[in-house]
Amino acid sequence: MKEKIIRAIKEFVIHDKENWFDETNDRFYDEPIVQFASADNPLFLDYKKIIGRKHLRPKEAYEMVFGKNSFQNGTVISVVLPINKKISESNRKQKVWPSKAWVLNRTFGGMMVKKVGLFMESLLSGMGHKAVSPYAASWFKSFMTLTGLSSMWSERHIAYAAGLGTFSLNDGFITEKGITINLISVVTDLILEADEIKAKDYRENCLFYRKNKCGACIKRCPVHAITEKGHNQFKCFKYVYGPSSRKLAVSYGGDAKAGSGCGLCQTGVPCEDKIP
Ligand code: SF4
Ligand code: SF4
Repeated sequence: MKEKIIRAIKEFVIHDKENWFDETNDRFYDEPIVQFASADNPLFLDYKKIIGRKHLRPKEAYEMVFGKNSFQNGTVISVVLPINKKISESNRKQKVWPSKAWVLNRTFGGMMVKKVGLFMESLLSGMGHKAVSPYAASWFKSFMTLTGLSSMWSERHIAYAAGLGTFSLNDGFITEKGITINLISVVTDLILEADEIKAKDYRENCLFYRKNKCGACIKRCPVHAITEKGHNQFKCFKYVYGPSSRKLAVSYGGDAKAGSGCGLCQTGVPCEDKIP
């Protein structure tokens, strides 16, 4: 069953006509990586303390749609969508603002990410199971907290529980395909074998924590939002979603609300497309 699901998701991403970017004449996203976490993994309870009480457990996310006490047990399927190399490469030489391709990927690639979530819902429904993709749901919310931007469903934390990678100095998520990725997931009542977390530390894939060296992302940040102490979410947020970012997004034909993004700390660095 797992293989069937993985194959269907990969085929959808590779062949869907909306996964095509005229700007680069290539895909937004390359072949995904798909892994599984058990819905009763104790990490999901820990996330209530680590992220905040508004962060949903898989059961809570499922029951937002299917009603109270509708969930007994199941699986969270997490998907890594690697951003196509042409888009990442175009951002390597940028020093202040992201490349046009990077900016437009934020608006149009972002739509594809949600579409993958909705596809997984219908795939599982076709197999006789219920499923919800929290990020693609109308009730999904992100909000500012005292420590920075947070949400009801952190795709990076979900991907960590599914053993797909680890966190990094710049607050990204480093997978086998590197840090230039997007993530999406679905909670289902289908019970599948979970993948294990192989990393010994939650930041193992980042050279800065593993070998006490690198810090390339520190030098790449145009607003000094990254230091050896970590990532200043407020500084980053102001830049990535501020008025100049919105203006840039619109000037290229993107969505003001999506902003331009930035991604300078994710491109032209050793973790761009691999675990360094
Ligand atoms: S550039 Fe280096 S320090 Fe920064 S996240 Fe990547 S591996 Fe870690
Ligand atoms: S996304 Fe841009 S502004 Fe934010 S930390 Fe990375 S380089 Fe700095």
